[in-house]
Amino acid sequence: KTFQELKLPEHLLKAIFEMGFERPSAIQEEALPRILANPPRNVIGQAQSGSGKTAAFVLGMLFRIKIDKPATCQALCVTPTRELAVQIFQNAVTPMAAHMVGLRVRLALAGETLERGDKVDAHIVIGTPGKVVDWLKRRIINTKFIKVFVLDEADNMVAESGHRANSLLIKNQMPKGCQSLLFSATFPDEVIAFAEKMVYNPDKILI
Ligand code: AMP
Repeated sequence: KTFQELKLPEHLLKAIFEMGFERPSAIQEEALPRILANPPRNVIGQAQSGSGKTAAFVLGMLFRIKIDKPATCQALCVTPTRELAVQIFQNAVTPMAAHMVGLRVRLALAGETLERGDKVDAHIVIGTPGKVVDWLKRRIINTKFIKVFVLDEADNMVAESGHRANSLLIKNQMPKGCQSLLFSATFPDEVIAFAEKMVYNPDKILI
């Protein structure tokens, strides 16, 4: 398969070719047809780092975003660490959105300060579960227009009970019809149980 055959829009194809990607990796080839499907499919993917999973879910988020709409959150990505959130933003979202003029991204991380009455006016929010829950509770993020919810490194989420509980709180705030994508390097029983609570009726992808 080629990226063209995966029905990516021109602006995303251009960006990934500029990044030097030539062909989809195994996980991209399996996951992207489901991630880009209409109606969207929910996906649980087993993928190690290095497999290209980040590109798969970032392309999914960018594919669903309507840039011309006023900037409200349309894609939410939660990660177990701030470093991973920053990496996804810098190494994947920024280059892949090179031709999406006006795209706004907000990191929801400890230490991010907000002005009084501040609302998230970004198309994409990437953050850790605790901070995202805090912003949801304070209605700083409007959930109404979220179309894609991504949870990365589910195994590391489960390893911390606070992260696990907060992830479930976040999932319960997602609007009806929101696509859910969950990735994990490993799937011991505990992670399977968590993933099944997080993602309704998923397509499961093992690489
Ligand atoms: P990840 O598994 O998401 O951590 O990605 C591992 C690395 O592979 C990153 O540096 C990506 O930029 C790169 N990468 C992802 N997909 C492809 C691809 N289809 N072709 C070449 N490099 C890729």
